[in-house]
Amino acid sequence: MEKTLAILKPDCVRKNLIGDVIKQITEAGFRVRGMRMVWLTAETAGGFYEVHRERPFFQDLVAFMSSGPCVPIVLEKDNAVADFRALIGATDPADAAEGTVRKRFADSKGENIVHGSDSVENAAIEIGYFFAGRDLVALG
Ligand code: ADP
Ligand code: MG
Repeated sequence: MEKTLAILKPDCVRKNLIGDVIKQITEAGFRVRGMRMVWLTAETAGGFYEVHRERPFFQDLVAFMSSGPCVPIVLEKDNAVADFRALIGATDPADAAEGTVRKRFADSKGENIVHGSDSVENAAIEIGYFFAGRDLVALG
């Protein structure tokens, strides 16, 4: 079964929306295989978003992602990567489809509540950034 990495970002935690967002995710058919709460350092956040290092928003992104705890979650579902991207909506909540997580809960393109892997290959890399194999629980 396909896996993807979600991160409930620091704005999601600060706004006390962890439960609301996980409810929408699980009601959409995703199964939780692993979950942690971590407070990233600037170095760790920058490493996660390495591909964006040269982008103009990189410093703001690192500051935001290290501004408080976040909740990485390994999700499993058929077609998990694409289905999760559809569930969360466009990067900018102003462009996100009605009913998507970002449309419902996000304030801005930077503080947009949730991360979702953009390919199966990147999902495996990103899952490995936060979880060891033994941390992923088999579904009963
Ligand atoms: P996504 O999270 O939808 O895959 P990207 O990979 O393009 O989006 O960007 C990673 C994250 O960087 C976004 O989720 C958002 O938090 C931030 N970001 C992207 N573009 C901008 C921007 N133009 N201004 C501010 N923050 C941005
Ligand atoms: Mg991305």
